[in-house]
Amino acid sequence: MRVSRAGVYGTLRRPLAGRHAGCQPASVRQPPGAISTARGATLPFADANLRYSLLMRSALAILALLVAAAGSADSRAPGGIFLAGEPLRVAADGFPKFTDRQIRGSAASTRAGLARWVSTTDGRRLFDYFTSWEYEIVVTEDESESGMGRAPQPGIATMVGAGDKTRRKFYELIINPAPRSIPEGLAAFPGQATRPADLVAATWAGEMLHIYFYSLGVLLPHHGRRDFQEQWASVAAQLGFPSMEHGQSEPDEGSWRRSRRSRGSW
Ligand SMILES: [Zn+2]
Repeated sequence: MRVSRAGVYGTLRRPLAGRHAGCQPASVRQPPGAISTARGATLPFADANLRYSLLMRSALAILALLVAAAGSADSRAPGGIFLAGEPLRVAADGFPKFTDRQIRGSAASTRAGLARWVSTTDGRRLFDYFTSWEYEIVVTEDESESGMGRAPQPGIATMVGAGDKTRRKFYELIINPAPRSIPEGLAAFPGQATRPADLVAATWAGEMLHIYFYSLGVLLPHHGRRDFQEQWASVAAQLGFPSMEHGQSEPDEGSWRRSRRSRGSW
C-alpha cells in the first residue's frame, strides 16, 4: 500500500488542531510535565499529556502504515513472463511492448515469436493468465539447444504448491532463437512451421502450454494427454500451422529432440 504525503501529513496534523507544531528551539526550556504550543504558550499538564498521547498514537499509526506498506511491497512485485530480467507486457494494441533492455538483451526472433503467439486468442489468454504476481517465468535463450526449446518441469515443491495462491511459482522457459531447420524427425508438410521465426512462435506456444499444465499441478508426461493435445491443436491452428504436431510422433517427452535433456519439451 502506498502512503501519500497528504495522508501522512493529514494524520499528523489532526491531533494538533490543523496547525504545524513547529520545532522547539534548543534554548527553550520546558517545565516538567508541560508541553509548549507553537506560539510558546504552556499548556496545563493534563492537556499536554493528552496531546502527547494523541501525537504518539498518530506516530504509531503512521509507523504501522509504513510497516504495512513495506510488507506489501514484495507482494506487489511485478510477476509474469520475464525476458532479459524484465516482465513482458502487452500494449493496448495487442502487441508486446518491449523495454530497451529487452530489445538489447534478446533475439529478434524470440520477440517476434512472442508477438505472434500473443496475437492468437489462446496465446493471449495464457499470457494474461501468467501476468500475475503469482508467477515468475524466466525466459532464456540458448542457441546451443539441440531442439527448439524446452520448459523443464519444476521441483516437486513447486508442483505440489501449484494451487497455493499465496506463493509465487517459478518456471523456466528456454528458447532456441535460431533453430537451424525443422526439428529432427519432422517432415515439412503444408501447414507446418518451417522458417525459424515460425518455429520460435510455435516454441512459445508449445512450451508455455507445458508451463500451463505445470501451473495446474500436472506432472509430466503431458504429450499423451488428450487435453494437452487439444489445446496444442487449437493454438497451432491459430498460429497458422494446423498440421503441426507436438510430441505425438514419439512415445515420450523426448520427441523432436536428440537428447534425454529434452524431457518436458517438444
Ligand atoms: Zn512438449
